[in-house]
Amino acid sequence: MFNSLGDRFQDIFKKVSGQGRLTESNIKDALREVRLALLEADVNYGVAKNFVAKIRDKAVGEEVIKGVNPAQQFVKIVNDELVEVLGGTNVTIAKSAKPPTVVMLTGLQGAGKTTFSAKLGKYLKKKGEKPFLIGADVYRPAAKKQIKVLGEQTGISAFTIDESTNVLEICKAGMEKAKEENATYVIFDTAGRLHIDEQLMNELKEIKENFHPDEILLVVDGMTGQDAVNVAKTFNEDLDISGVVLTKLDGDTRGGAALSIKEVSGKPIKFISDGEKLDDVSAFHPDRLASRILGMGDVVSLVEKAQEVIDEDEAKKMEEKFRKNQFDFEDFLKQFKMIKKMGSLGNIMKLIPGVDTSAIDMAMAEKEMKKVEAIIYSMTVQERRDPKLLKNGGRKKRIAGGSGTEVTEVNKLIKQYEQMKQVMKMFNSGGFPGMPGGFRG
Ligand code: GDP
Repeated sequence: MFNSLGDRFQDIFKKVSGQGRLTESNIKDALREVRLALLEADVNYGVAKNFVAKIRDKAVGEEVIKGVNPAQQFVKIVNDELVEVLGGTNVTIAKSAKPPTVVMLTGLQGAGKTTFSAKLGKYLKKKGEKPFLIGADVYRPAAKKQIKVLGEQTGISAFTIDESTNVLEICKAGMEKAKEENATYVIFDTAGRLHIDEQLMNELKEIKENFHPDEILLVVDGMTGQDAVNVAKTFNEDLDISGVVLTKLDGDTRGGAALSIKEVSGKPIKFISDGEKLDDVSAFHPDRLASRILGMGDVVSLVEKAQEVIDEDEAKKMEEKFRKNQFDFEDFLKQFKMIKKMGSLGNIMKLIPGVDTSAIDMAMAEKEMKKVEAIIYSMTVQERRDPKLLKNGGRKKRIAGGSGTEVTEVNKLIKQYEQMKQVMKMFNSGGFPGMPGGFRG
Protein backbone atom coordinates (compact mmCIF):
# COMPACT_ATOMS: atom_id res chain seq x y z
CA MET A 1 0.00 0.00 0.00
CA PHE A 2 0.96 3.64 -0.33
CA ASN A 3 3.65 2.65 -2.77
CA SER A 4 2.93 5.34 -5.28
CA LEU A 5 3.21 8.10 -2.70
CA GLY A 6 6.41 6.58 -1.32
CA ASP A 7 7.98 6.41 -4.78
CA ARG A 8 7.10 10.02 -5.48
CA PHE A 9 8.81 11.17 -2.32
CA GLN A 10 11.88 9.13 -3.23
CA ASP A 11 12.08 10.97 -6.54
CA ILE A 12 11.55 14.33 -4.90
CA PHE A 13 14.36 13.78 -2.47
CA LYS A 14 16.66 12.63 -5.23
CA LYS A 15 16.20 16.10 -6.70
CA VAL A 16 17.02 17.78 -3.41
CA SER A 17 19.96 15.44 -2.83
CA GLY A 18 23.26 16.61 -4.14
CA GLN A 19 22.39 20.26 -3.66
CA GLY A 20 24.60 22.08 -1.21
CA ARG A 21 21.95 23.39 1.08
CA LEU A 22 18.24 24.01 1.28
CA THR A 23 17.41 27.28 -0.34
CA GLU A 24 14.15 29.04 -0.97
CA SER A 25 14.29 27.98 -4.59
CA ASN A 26 15.15 24.30 -4.23
CA ILE A 27 12.58 23.96 -1.47
CA LYS A 28 10.05 25.53 -3.78
CA ASP A 29 10.56 22.81 -6.38
CA ALA A 30 10.49 20.06 -3.79
CA LEU A 31 7.39 21.51 -2.16
CA ARG A 32 5.54 21.67 -5.44
CA GLU A 33 6.36 18.00 -5.98
CA VAL A 34 5.21 17.15 -2.47
CA ARG A 35 1.92 18.91 -3.08
CA LEU A 36 1.36 17.16 -6.41
CA ALA A 37 2.23 13.80 -4.90
CA LEU A 38 -0.28 14.38 -2.12
CA LEU A 39 -3.03 15.45 -4.50
CA GLU A 40 -2.33 12.50 -6.74
CA ALA A 41 -2.53 10.23 -3.72
CA ASP A 42 -6.04 11.62 -3.29
CA VAL A 43 -5.25 13.73 -0.26
CA ASN A 44 -7.85 16.38 0.42
CA TYR A 45 -6.89 19.68 -1.24
CA GLY A 46 -7.04 21.75 1.95
CA VAL A 47 -5.01 19.18 3.87
CA ALA A 48 -2.32 19.14 1.16
CA LYS A 49 -2.15 22.92 1.10
CA ASN A 50 -1.77 23.19 4.88
CA PHE A 51 0.78 20.43 4.89
CA VAL A 52 2.98 22.11 2.33
CA ALA A 53 2.74 25.48 4.06
CA LYS A 54 3.87 24.00 7.36
CA ILE A 55 6.82 22.25 5.76
CA ARG A 56 7.88 25.44 4.03
CA ASP A 57 7.86 27.32 7.33
CA LYS A 58 9.88 24.68 9.11
CA ALA A 59 12.42 24.04 6.37
CA VAL A 60 13.26 27.65 5.63
CA GLY A 61 13.40 28.71 9.25
CA GLU A 62 15.52 25.87 10.57
CA GLU A 63 19.26 25.75 10.72
CA VAL A 64 20.81 22.81 8.94
CA ILE A 65 22.09 20.26 11.45
CA LYS A 66 25.69 19.33 11.00
CA GLY A 67 26.49 15.76 10.13
CA VAL A 68 23.54 15.15 7.84
CA ASN A 69 22.95 16.66 4.47
CA PRO A 70 20.11 19.10 3.82
CA ALA A 71 18.09 16.57 1.83
CA GLN A 72 18.10 14.21 4.76
CA GLN A 73 17.01 16.96 7.04
CA PHE A 74 14.19 17.82 4.65
CA VAL A 75 13.01 14.22 4.82
CA LYS A 76 12.93 14.50 8.60
CA ILE A 77 10.83 17.65 8.46
CA VAL A 78 8.37 16.04 6.05
CA ASN A 79 8.27 12.93 8.23
CA ASP A 80 7.54 14.87 11.41
CA GLU A 81 4.76 16.75 9.72
CA LEU A 82 3.28 13.52 8.32
CA VAL A 83 3.25 12.04 11.81
CA GLU A 84 1.51 15.16 13.05
CA VAL A 85 -1.14 15.09 10.32
CA LEU A 86 -1.71 11.39 10.92
CA GLY A 87 -2.52 12.16 14.53
CA GLY A 88 0.77 12.26 16.42
CA THR A 89 0.67 9.21 18.63
CA ASN A 90 -1.37 6.03 18.73
CA VAL A 91 -4.70 6.44 20.49
CA THR A 92 -5.64 3.17 22.16
CA ILE A 93 -9.11 1.73 22.40
CA ALA A 94 -11.11 2.87 25.43
CA LYS A 95 -11.33 0.66 28.49
CA SER A 96 -14.16 1.35 30.86
CA ALA A 97 -13.53 1.34 34.58
CA LYS A 98 -16.85 -0.46 34.84
CA PRO A 99 -16.80 -3.45 32.47
CA PRO A 100 -17.98 -4.32 30.00
CA THR A 101 -16.56 -1.64 27.74
CA VAL A 102 -19.13 -1.07 24.99
CA VAL A 103 -17.78 -0.64 21.46
CA MET A 104 -20.19 0.30 18.71
CA LEU A 105 -19.02 -0.30 15.15
CA THR A 106 -20.59 1.80 12.43
CA GLY A 107 -20.00 2.26 8.73
CA LEU A 108 -21.36 1.83 5.25
CA GLN A 109 -22.17 -1.57 3.83
CA GLY A 110 -19.12 -3.41 2.55
CA ALA A 111 -16.63 -1.29 4.49
CA GLY A 112 -15.52 -4.35 6.43
CA LYS A 113 -17.46 -3.79 9.64
CA THR A 114 -18.55 -7.34 10.37
CA THR A 115 -15.12 -8.70 9.52
CA PHE A 116 -13.56 -6.08 11.78
CA SER A 117 -15.82 -7.01 14.69
CA ALA A 118 -14.20 -10.45 14.73
CA LYS A 119 -10.75 -8.99 14.15
CA LEU A 120 -11.18 -6.64 17.08
CA GLY A 121 -12.49 -9.52 19.19
CA LYS A 122 -9.39 -11.54 18.39
CA TYR A 123 -7.14 -8.55 19.03
CA LEU A 124 -8.71 -7.98 22.45
CA LYS A 125 -8.66 -11.67 23.31
CA LYS A 126 -4.91 -11.74 22.70
CA LYS A 127 -4.63 -8.92 25.21
CA GLY A 128 -6.34 -11.04 27.83
CA GLU A 129 -9.79 -9.49 27.46
CA LYS A 130 -13.06 -11.38 27.14
CA PRO A 131 -14.87 -9.98 24.12
CA PHE A 132 -18.49 -10.59 23.18
CA LEU A 133 -19.95 -9.95 19.71
CA ILE A 134 -23.48 -8.79 19.08
CA GLY A 135 -24.80 -9.10 15.52
CA ALA A 136 -27.17 -6.15 15.15
CA ASP A 137 -26.82 -5.66 11.41
CA VAL A 138 -30.42 -6.35 10.48
CA TYR A 139 -30.07 -4.73 7.09
CA ARG A 140 -27.43 -6.62 5.12
CA PRO A 141 -28.59 -10.14 4.28
CA ALA A 142 -26.29 -12.79 5.78
CA ALA A 143 -24.59 -10.37 8.22
CA LYS A 144 -26.04 -12.17 11.22
CA LYS A 145 -25.02 -15.56 9.92
CA GLN A 146 -21.56 -14.18 9.16
CA ILE A 147 -21.03 -13.00 12.71
CA LYS A 148 -22.00 -16.38 14.12
CA VAL A 149 -19.56 -18.12 11.80
CA LEU A 150 -16.83 -15.63 12.76
CA GLY A 151 -17.59 -16.29 16.42
CA GLU A 152 -17.12 -20.00 15.89
CA GLN A 153 -13.89 -19.49 13.98
CA THR A 154 -12.39 -17.33 16.68
CA GLY A 155 -13.85 -19.02 19.74
CA ILE A 156 -15.52 -15.74 20.75
CA SER A 157 -19.13 -15.63 21.95
CA ALA A 158 -21.36 -14.18 19.25
CA PHE A 159 -25.00 -13.35 19.87
CA THR A 160 -27.88 -12.39 17.62
CA ILE A 161 -31.60 -13.06 17.23
CA ASP A 162 -32.17 -14.54 13.79
CA GLU A 163 -35.84 -13.74 13.50
CA SER A 164 -35.67 -10.22 14.89
CA THR A 165 -35.26 -7.01 12.92
CA ASN A 166 -35.49 -4.90 16.05
CA VAL A 167 -31.99 -3.60 16.65
CA LEU A 168 -32.64 -2.40 20.19
CA GLU A 169 -34.16 -5.74 21.17
CA ILE A 170 -31.12 -7.62 19.87
CA CYS A 171 -28.66 -5.28 21.58
CA LYS A 172 -30.51 -5.43 24.90
CA ALA A 173 -30.72 -9.23 24.97
CA GLY A 174 -27.09 -9.41 23.87
CA MET A 175 -25.94 -7.06 26.64
CA GLU A 176 -27.64 -9.23 29.24
CA LYS A 177 -26.02 -12.34 27.88
CA ALA A 178 -22.61 -10.61 27.78
CA LYS A 179 -22.90 -9.60 31.42
CA GLU A 180 -23.88 -13.14 32.37
CA GLU A 181 -20.69 -14.32 30.71
CA ASN A 182 -18.63 -11.64 32.45
CA ALA A 183 -17.47 -10.23 29.14
CA THR A 184 -15.06 -7.30 29.42
CA TYR A 185 -15.80 -5.90 25.95
CA VAL A 186 -19.08 -5.91 24.05
CA ILE A 187 -18.84 -5.21 20.33
CA PHE A 188 -21.97 -4.14 18.43
CA ASP A 189 -21.95 -4.85 14.72
CA THR A 190 -24.55 -2.36 13.51
CA ALA A 191 -26.24 -2.08 10.13
CA GLY A 192 -24.80 -0.07 7.28
CA ARG A 193 -26.29 1.19 4.03
CA LEU A 194 -24.86 1.71 0.58
CA HIS A 195 -25.03 5.45 1.18
CA ILE A 196 -25.50 7.63 4.21
CA ASP A 197 -29.19 8.19 4.82
CA GLU A 198 -31.35 9.56 7.57
CA GLN A 199 -32.86 6.23 8.55
CA LEU A 200 -29.40 4.80 9.12
CA MET A 201 -28.31 7.73 11.24
CA ASN A 202 -31.47 7.63 13.33
CA GLU A 203 -30.99 3.94 13.99
CA LEU A 204 -27.41 4.52 15.12
CA LYS A 205 -28.37 7.47 17.31
CA GLU A 206 -30.94 5.30 19.00
CA ILE A 207 -28.36 2.65 19.85
CA LYS A 208 -26.04 5.34 21.12
CA GLU A 209 -28.70 6.86 23.39
CA ASN A 210 -29.74 3.51 24.81
CA PHE A 211 -26.39 1.88 25.40
CA HIS A 212 -23.95 4.78 25.91
CA PRO A 213 -21.01 3.19 24.11
CA ASP A 214 -17.50 3.94 25.40
CA GLU A 215 -16.29 3.84 21.80
CA ILE A 216 -18.06 4.58 18.55
CA LEU A 217 -15.71 3.43 15.84
CA LEU A 218 -16.40 4.24 12.23
CA VAL A 219 -15.17 1.58 9.81
CA VAL A 220 -14.25 3.04 6.42
CA ASP A 221 -12.99 1.43 3.25
CA GLY A 222 -9.48 2.80 2.67
CA MET A 223 -9.75 2.09 -1.06
CA THR A 224 -12.41 4.74 -1.50
CA GLY A 225 -10.07 7.68 -0.93
CA GLN A 226 -11.88 11.00 -0.64
CA ASP A 227 -15.22 9.23 -0.18
CA ALA A 228 -13.89 7.68 3.01
CA VAL A 229 -12.93 11.14 4.23
CA ASN A 230 -16.41 12.53 3.49
CA VAL A 231 -18.04 9.57 5.23
CA ALA A 232 -15.86 10.18 8.30
CA LYS A 233 -16.80 13.84 8.32
CA THR A 234 -20.56 13.17 8.11
CA PHE A 235 -20.59 10.33 10.65
CA ASN A 236 -18.64 12.46 13.06
CA GLU A 237 -21.00 15.40 12.68
CA ASP A 238 -24.05 13.20 13.26
CA LEU A 239 -22.77 10.76 15.84
CA ASP A 240 -19.68 12.28 17.40
CA ILE A 241 -17.60 9.17 16.76
CA SER A 242 -14.55 8.42 18.90
CA GLY A 243 -12.27 6.98 16.25
CA VAL A 244 -11.84 5.52 12.79
CA VAL A 245 -10.88 2.09 11.48
CA LEU A 246 -9.33 2.13 8.04
CA THR A 247 -9.77 -1.15 6.15
CA LYS A 248 -8.46 -2.75 2.94
CA LEU A 249 -5.07 -1.11 3.15
CA ASP A 250 -3.65 -4.24 1.57
CA GLY A 251 -5.25 -3.23 -1.71
CA ASP A 252 -4.12 -0.70 -4.23
CA THR A 253 -4.93 2.30 -2.09
CA ARG A 254 -3.41 5.67 -2.67
CA GLY A 255 -3.10 6.53 0.99
CA GLY A 256 -4.86 9.86 0.78
CA ALA A 257 -7.63 8.79 3.11
CA ALA A 258 -5.25 8.08 5.97
CA LEU A 259 -3.64 11.48 5.59
CA SER A 260 -6.90 13.40 5.44
CA ILE A 261 -9.19 11.66 7.92
CA LYS A 262 -7.67 12.93 11.14
CA GLU A 263 -7.23 16.42 9.78
CA VAL A 264 -10.75 16.67 8.35
CA SER A 265 -12.79 14.83 11.01
CA GLY A 266 -10.61 15.66 13.98
CA LYS A 267 -10.90 12.05 15.11
CA PRO A 268 -7.97 9.64 15.32
CA ILE A 269 -7.51 6.52 13.27
CA LYS A 270 -7.33 3.77 15.89
CA PHE A 271 -6.93 0.60 13.84
CA ILE A 272 -5.95 -0.41 10.37
CA SER A 273 -6.99 -3.58 8.61
CA ASP A 274 -4.91 -4.89 5.77
CA GLY A 275 -6.21 -8.24 4.67
CA GLU A 276 -9.09 -10.68 4.73
CA LYS A 277 -7.58 -12.94 7.37
CA LEU A 278 -8.70 -12.34 10.94
CA ASP A 279 -5.20 -11.53 12.12
CA ASP A 280 -4.76 -8.80 9.53
CA VAL A 281 -5.41 -5.96 11.92
CA SER A 282 -3.22 -3.65 13.94
CA ALA A 283 -3.34 -0.62 16.17
CA PHE A 284 -2.63 2.48 14.13
CA HIS A 285 0.76 4.10 14.69
CA PRO A 286 1.22 7.44 12.90
CA ASP A 287 5.02 7.25 12.99
CA ARG A 288 5.09 3.81 11.41
CA LEU A 289 2.72 4.81 8.65
CA ALA A 290 4.70 8.01 8.00
CA SER A 291 7.86 5.95 7.58
CA ARG A 292 6.03 3.67 5.22
CA ILE A 293 4.68 6.55 3.19
CA LEU A 294 8.11 8.12 2.93
CA GLY A 295 9.90 4.82 2.61
CA MET A 296 12.67 6.65 4.43
CA GLY A 297 12.25 5.91 8.11
CA ASP A 298 15.92 5.09 8.36
CA VAL A 299 16.93 8.56 7.30
CA VAL A 300 14.81 9.91 10.09
CA SER A 301 16.67 7.85 12.66
CA LEU A 302 19.97 8.97 11.14
CA VAL A 303 19.02 12.60 11.60
CA GLU A 304 17.84 11.90 15.14
CA LYS A 305 21.13 10.21 15.95
CA ALA A 306 23.07 13.14 14.53
CA GLN A 307 20.99 15.53 16.59
CA GLU A 308 21.82 13.48 19.69
CA VAL A 309 25.56 13.19 19.29
CA ILE A 310 26.65 16.25 17.43
CA ASP A 311 27.71 19.20 19.45
CA GLU A 312 26.40 22.17 17.51
CA ASP A 313 29.04 24.59 18.78
CA GLU A 314 31.81 22.20 17.92
CA ALA A 315 30.26 21.60 14.50
CA LYS A 316 30.05 25.33 13.87
CA LYS A 317 33.71 25.80 14.69
CA MET A 318 34.50 22.91 12.38
CA GLU A 319 32.45 24.41 9.60
CA GLU A 320 34.28 27.68 10.01
CA LYS A 321 37.61 25.89 9.77
CA PHE A 322 36.55 24.06 6.64
CA ARG A 323 35.35 27.26 5.12
CA LYS A 324 38.59 29.05 5.85
CA ASN A 325 40.46 25.99 4.74
CA GLN A 326 42.25 25.80 8.06
CA PHE A 327 41.34 22.27 9.09
CA ASP A 328 44.14 20.00 10.21
CA PHE A 329 44.59 16.45 11.41
CA GLU A 330 43.26 17.33 14.87
CA ASP A 331 39.96 18.16 13.17
CA PHE A 332 40.11 14.88 11.32
CA LEU A 333 40.27 13.08 14.65
CA LYS A 334 37.35 15.04 16.06
CA GLN A 335 35.24 14.11 13.07
CA PHE A 336 36.14 10.47 13.46
CA LYS A 337 34.95 10.62 17.04
CA MET A 338 31.62 12.07 16.00
CA ILE A 339 31.15 9.38 13.38
CA LYS A 340 31.99 6.70 15.89
CA LYS A 341 29.44 8.02 18.37
CA MET A 342 26.80 7.46 15.73
CA GLY A 343 27.57 3.75 15.54
CA SER A 344 29.56 1.50 13.29
CA LEU A 345 30.36 2.82 9.84
CA GLY A 346 28.42 -0.07 8.32
CA ASN A 347 25.29 0.77 10.25
CA ILE A 348 25.47 4.44 9.42
CA MET A 349 25.97 3.72 5.73
CA LYS A 350 22.94 1.44 5.75
CA LEU A 351 20.81 4.32 6.99
CA ILE A 352 21.61 6.48 4.00
CA PRO A 353 19.19 5.96 1.13
CA GLY A 354 20.72 5.33 -2.25
CA VAL A 355 23.90 3.89 -0.77
CA ASP A 356 24.19 0.32 -1.90
CA THR A 357 26.06 -1.11 1.05
CA SER A 358 26.38 -4.46 -0.67
CA ALA A 359 28.67 -2.75 -3.16
CA ILE A 360 30.94 -1.49 -0.40
CA ASP A 361 33.23 -3.72 1.56
CA MET A 362 32.24 -2.48 5.01
CA ALA A 363 34.89 -4.44 6.83
CA MET A 364 37.49 -2.89 4.54
CA ALA A 365 36.12 0.60 5.01
CA GLU A 366 36.08 0.16 8.76
CA LYS A 367 39.65 -1.15 8.67
CA GLU A 368 40.73 1.74 6.51
CA MET A 369 39.21 4.20 8.95
CA LYS A 370 41.01 2.57 11.86
CA LYS A 371 44.28 2.73 9.98
CA VAL A 372 43.87 6.43 9.25
CA GLU A 373 43.06 7.01 12.87
CA ALA A 374 46.14 5.10 14.01
CA ILE A 375 48.33 7.15 11.70
CA ILE A 376 46.94 10.42 13.02
CA TYR A 377 47.37 9.26 16.61
CA SER A 378 51.02 8.55 15.90
CA MET A 379 51.60 12.16 14.91
CA THR A 380 52.66 14.66 17.52
CA VAL A 381 50.22 17.44 18.33
CA GLN A 382 52.42 19.89 16.44
CA GLU A 383 52.39 17.67 13.38
CA ARG A 384 48.62 17.35 13.48
CA ARG A 385 48.22 21.09 13.75
CA ASP A 386 50.81 21.90 11.16
CA PRO A 387 50.80 19.16 8.53
CA LYS A 388 53.60 20.95 6.62
CA LEU A 389 56.01 19.40 9.13
CA LEU A 390 55.15 16.04 7.60
CA LYS A 391 57.22 16.78 4.52
CA ASN A 392 60.11 15.49 6.58
CA GLY A 393 60.94 11.86 5.71
CA GLY A 394 62.16 11.03 9.21
CA ARG A 395 58.88 12.07 10.74
CA LYS A 396 56.93 9.97 8.26
CA LYS A 397 59.04 6.94 9.06
CA ARG A 398 58.46 7.43 12.78
CA ILE A 399 54.69 7.77 12.28
CA ALA A 400 54.52 4.67 10.09
CA GLY A 401 56.43 2.74 12.73
CA GLY A 402 54.23 4.02 15.51
CA SER A 403 50.99 3.16 13.76
CA GLY A 404 52.11 -0.19 12.42
CA THR A 405 51.72 0.99 8.83
CA GLU A 406 54.03 1.75 5.93
CA VAL A 407 55.42 5.11 4.83
CA THR A 408 53.42 4.75 1.61
CA GLU A 409 50.23 4.71 3.65
CA VAL A 410 51.26 7.79 5.59
CA ASN A 411 52.00 9.44 2.25
CA LYS A 412 48.61 8.43 0.96
CA LEU A 413 46.84 10.09 3.88
CA ILE A 414 48.88 13.27 3.52
CA LYS A 415 48.06 13.33 -0.17
CA GLN A 416 44.34 12.92 0.60
CA TYR A 417 44.58 15.75 3.06
CA GLU A 418 46.18 18.00 0.48
CA GLN A 419 43.60 17.07 -2.13
CA MET A 420 40.87 17.85 0.33
CA LYS A 421 42.36 21.26 0.91
CA GLN A 422 42.41 21.81 -2.83
CA VAL A 423 38.76 20.85 -3.14
CA MET A 424 37.90 23.06 -0.19
CA LYS A 425 39.62 25.94 -1.90
CA MET A 426 37.28 25.48 -4.86
CA PHE A 427 34.22 25.32 -2.64
CA ASN A 428 35.30 28.18 -0.50
CA SER A 429 32.42 30.30 -1.64
CA GLY A 430 30.05 28.55 0.75
CA GLY A 431 30.00 24.79 0.14
CA PHE A 432 28.46 22.58 2.75
CA PRO A 433 31.21 20.81 4.66
CA GLY A 434 30.82 17.08 4.72
CA MET A 435 32.59 14.57 6.86
CA PRO A 436 35.92 13.31 5.62
CA GLY A 437 35.81 10.48 3.13
CA GLY A 438 32.86 11.84 1.17
CA PHE A 439 30.51 11.37 4.06
CA ARG A 440 27.61 13.18 2.55
CA GLY A 441 25.02 10.56 1.56
P1 GDP B 1 -19.62 -4.89 6.23
O1 GDP B 1 -20.76 -4.80 5.27
O2 GDP B 1 -19.11 -3.55 6.56
O3 GDP B 1 -19.94 -5.70 7.42
O4 GDP B 1 -18.44 -5.60 5.42
P2 GDP B 1 -17.79 -7.05 5.56
O5 GDP B 1 -17.14 -7.22 6.87
O6 GDP B 1 -18.78 -8.08 5.14
O7 GDP B 1 -16.63 -6.93 4.48
C1 GDP B 1 -16.89 -6.70 3.09
C2 GDP B 1 -15.83 -7.40 2.27
O8 GDP B 1 -14.57 -6.78 2.48
C3 GDP B 1 -15.66 -8.86 2.62
O9 GDP B 1 -15.46 -9.57 1.43
C4 GDP B 1 -14.39 -8.87 3.46
O10 GDP B 1 -13.71 -10.11 3.36
C5 GDP B 1 -13.60 -7.75 2.83
N1 GDP B 1 -12.65 -7.12 3.76
C6 GDP B 1 -12.84 -6.62 5.00
N2 GDP B 1 -11.72 -6.10 5.51
C7 GDP B 1 -10.76 -6.26 4.56
C8 GDP B 1 -9.36 -5.90 4.47
O11 GDP B 1 -8.75 -5.30 5.36
N3 GDP B 1 -8.73 -6.23 3.32
C9 GDP B 1 -9.37 -6.87 2.30
N4 GDP B 1 -8.67 -7.16 1.21
N5 GDP B 1 -10.65 -7.20 2.35
C10 GDP B 1 -11.36 -6.90 3.45
